[in-house]
Parts: sequence; structure tokens; C-alpha cells
Amino acid sequence: MVGFKVYRRELKYKTSKLIEFIDITRDVEGVVGESGVRTGLTHIFVPHATAAILANENEHGLLNDFTELIRELFRPGGGWMHNRIDNNAHAHLAAGFIGADRTFPVEDGRLVRGTWQNIFLVELDGPRSMRRVVVTVTGEVD
Ligand code: ZN
Repeated sequence: MVGFKVYRRELKYKTSKLIEFIDITRDVEGVVGESGVRTGLTHIFVPHATAAILANENEHGLLNDFTELIRELFRPGGGWMHNRIDNNAHAHLAAGFIGADRTFPVEDGRLVRGTWQNIFLVELDGPRSMRRVVVTVTGEVD
């Protein structure tokens, strides 16, 4: 008989730079494994206004390119209105564009993703002593 399950776990990370990409793929796949869900979806959500979730290749040059692009498009210390009250407008703007979540399929108990598609927590206003990532796995269990 097939049952239905919702399994949720919170992951925590310490960040060390203003803009930083933290590969959380293994941790997310660990949550999928412990969930017991065979067929369903995994939702990865960051409950912060100045951090984001991204799926892309974990290649050093590319991550530098992403960092440079973010710095160009959303200039830290630029003349943003939000900087009048809180000096992190760039982080809010970049987080708004990258997005706070991603969803992946789960098939045969495993996360479905491309070979060059790792999952990153994107720090945009670091360093921070603690960033939270909420992983929810939902679907059919045996
Ligand atoms: Zn702010």
C-alpha cells in the first residue's frame, strides 16, 4: 500500500563573505534519503530576505562570474534608497531576482537534477553566524 508523507528539516549554515555560494547538494540529498519518499517533490526554501537559492554548476570560475555579475547589477554601497536605513539594498535586490526557493523532482527515492546542477545557498549580505534553509520532501512512500 502506498502512503503519502510530508517530511521537513531545517539546515543551518555559517557564512564567511559578503557574497558567497555554499554548495548544499549533499545535505539536501541526505534529507531526501532520510525522508523515505519514493516519488514526489523536494522544495528548498531560504527564509531570509538577503539570501537566495540557486541551482547551477559548482565550478570555481563560474561562481566567480556569478559573484561579479551580482556586484555589477546590484552594486553594494550604490545609491539605493534602502541604504538610507540599512546598508544592504544590493542583497535584497539580488535575493529578489535569484529567488528564495527551488523545487526538484524525487524519483525512486532520489533527487532528480542535472549532472552540472548543484544546489547553492547564496549569501548576499554576509558574513552571518547562521543562515537557515528549510527542506520539505513530499510524496509517496512505500
Ligand atoms: Zn535591509
